[in-house]
Amino acid sequence: QAKGEGRNAYRYYTEALTVAARQRLALESRLHRALAHGDELKVYYQPQWDLQSGNLVGAEALMRWFDPDEGLISPAVFIPVAEESNLINLMTDWVIEHSCEFWVKNGLTGANGLHLAINLSPRSFSNATLAVGVQESLLRTGFPPHLLELELTEGALMQEGTGALAILQSLRDTGVRLALDDFGTGYSSLAYLRKFPLDVLKIDKSFVDVLNEESGAAMVTAIVDLAHVLGFRSLAEGVEEESQASFLRACGCEMYQGYLGSKPLPAAEFLVLVSKLKSEAKA
Ligand code: C2E
Ligand code: MG
Ligand code: MG
Ligand code: MG
Repeated sequence: QAKGEGRNAYRYYTEALTVAARQRLALESRLHRALAHGDELKVYYQPQWDLQSGNLVGAEALMRWFDPDEGLISPAVFIPVAEESNLINLMTDWVIEHSCEFWVKNGLTGANGLHLAINLSPRSFSNATLAVGVQESLLRTGFPPHLLELELTEGALMQEGTGALAILQSLRDTGVRLALDDFGTGYSSLAYLRKFPLDVLKIDKSFVDVLNEESGAAMVTAIVDLAHVLGFRSLAEGVEEESQASFLRACGCEMYQGYLGSKPLPAAEFLVLVSKLKSEAKA
């Protein structure tokens, strides 16, 4: 009897696992197909603004997947699946090439060019040829390195220890800028932060959300000061209200992105915004 129950429990357990594993595999193979066909994957661009001047200074490229059966699938769902397989590295290459080409083709790299921020995966740092690949993409698309900003997370810094440092240094040598994404949510130590050649600290939305609380406001002020002490600029993520923007401006934060300025936009809408702002500036 006990033996029978044990066997049953085992069977249910493996069946549950099998369902989850099968779903994951199915998602993975559809993602493979999407990457091969090209038109299911899109890049949206979320504007980034200078807090002092109010000018548009760049945008973050954010991937979107329109599956023919399921419709829009969030990156929060498919990026983790891609990260468990080798797909994430192919996807990163795709986003870099695709959006650099888009920037060049639409004249966004000219005088007063906009910077383009692209998310790297922690998996990118297990690839010793990352910097070579980035440089090839820059050359192939004619994109000016100083306008490319690669975003990494604290996990990526910690994971590979000194390996990550060498990769970051070689990325930096290609002339691109580096931003630390979701700062404050991971577990990088301050000692590490000092060692890495970063340009921008991106203050996570969870801190911006609590700016109306005294402790939240104090935290954000401290993070902005920390960024400056280390020689980095700061960018606040997920700014939705004017009161948040004014606080950030007052404490010296340089840039923000968030629904207050704009949601991530499909490429065509992003171009409309850019030309609207250009004609307003001329008028
Ligand atoms: P992230 O890099 O921290 O990107 C910011 C996320 O916050 C985006 O979600 C953006 O739409 C959202 N956001 C921006 N402003 C606001 C706001 O004011 N309010 C709210 N509620 N949300 C805001 P999204 O596009 O769903 O992307 C989620 C995450 O997926 C990204 O977080 C990033 O970690 C990952 N991801 C997206 N695209 C890529 C990619 O091409 N490669 C990699 N490796 N990861 C990506
Ligand atoms: Mg990001
Ligand atoms: Mg972020
Ligand atoms: Mg995030």
